Amino acid sequence: MSEEFQPVAQPHLWGNERIYLDEALESGWVSSRGPFIERFERAFAESIGVAHAVSVTNCTNALHLALDALGIGPGDEVIVPDFTMMAPVFAVLYQRATPVPIDADETWNMDPDAVAVAITPRTRAILAVHTYGHPARIDRLREIADEHNLWLVEDAAEAHGGAVLGRAVGTFGDIACFSFYANKLITTGEGGMIITNCEELAKRVRWKRNMCFGSDEESRYTHESIGFNYRMTNLQAAIGLAQLENAAAALESKLSIAQAYDAALGEIPGLTLPPRSTWAKNVFWVYGVLIRDEFGRSRVELQQRLSSRKIETRRFFTPLHRQPVIRSNGSLLSFPNADLLCERGLYLPSFPCMSTSVIQRVADEIRRARG
Ligand SMILES: *Cc1c(COP(=O)(O)O)cnc(C)c1O
Repeated sequence: MSEEFQPVAQPHLWGNERIYLDEALESGWVSSRGPFIERFERAFAESIGVAHAVSVTNCTNALHLALDALGIGPGDEVIVPDFTMMAPVFAVLYQRATPVPIDADETWNMDPDAVAVAITPRTRAILAVHTYGHPARIDRLREIADEHNLWLVEDAAEAHGGAVLGRAVGTFGDIACFSFYANKLITTGEGGMIITNCEELAKRVRWKRNMCFGSDEESRYTHESIGFNYRMTNLQAAIGLAQLENAAAALESKLSIAQAYDAALGEIPGLTLPPRSTWAKNVFWVYGVLIRDEFGRSRVELQQRLSSRKIETRRFFTPLHRQPVIRSNGSLLSFPNADLLCERGLYLPSFPCMSTSVIQRVADEIRRARG
């Protein structure tokens, strides 16, 4: 029997995307001015419960803009997770600041206890990443940031809709960034958002996003600072607004997929299932497992086996301390948890409205792979 290919991720377009996109095209507003930008920004801010949302070209640029707006620069240290997608680390490097990596805790996120110890007189900010859907211990990181007078930036690209102690991810930081890449909770093709409750920061981010143009005709081409073109288009915002209308449904879908995977994989020896914590709402952006020795097959063998059955999987991130692009000055620090995640982690197909029969099929193949 030939089974259908199962990708790890796939966008789901629910319906109004085409209608709004048509409307945007009809209006002639195809670039970064037009009514959908403001509508999307306002709806996004409301959906999280913050005062300001500023749309941008993608989350990598959102992070760059956030650090720039906060005045992070050469010589500054920014505390980041060692186990992370590299975009937030690149953002630190764009500003010629120094990323200071912190090992992962049991939630696969930056360990707050290790953060407190890593602070030096040069530390300016903590850049927390909520990885794979389980929020970082952001309430504690907020406390640490306040104690040491540091900025707190949240990379919420993988935890859109998540919460810590009932409070939305993205509302703990001075500034938070989201991604609308095709595999994120909602998509605009490419796109991102910066949110903040600080009006002054929001203003600065808007100004920087749009080339630091002057505010009136007289000063328009007078630039007081280095600006960027990180503007989202009205076409993307039209898609984003439609996607946002179904963000709750997309999240529900992800949660029920995770529940079903937990049930289907729970009995298989040698698998560590993704973390759940009483204090956090994990949104299961991806459904990741760790392959322990008891499983009896290596991760590569399992991946190959699943691939031959047309089931796509993806390895976990390579930690910062192993990245050739980071010229480590012979750091004596070790990152055992990040190493473990990097060596053992694998994530499985999971996307909004994925058929539940896929989960059983994946679980059956994993069980058979043990031999
Ligand atoms: C996807 C992602 C990004 C980058 O988002 P882009 O919109 O693709 O630039 C940044 N950080 C994390 C944690 C991500 O998962």
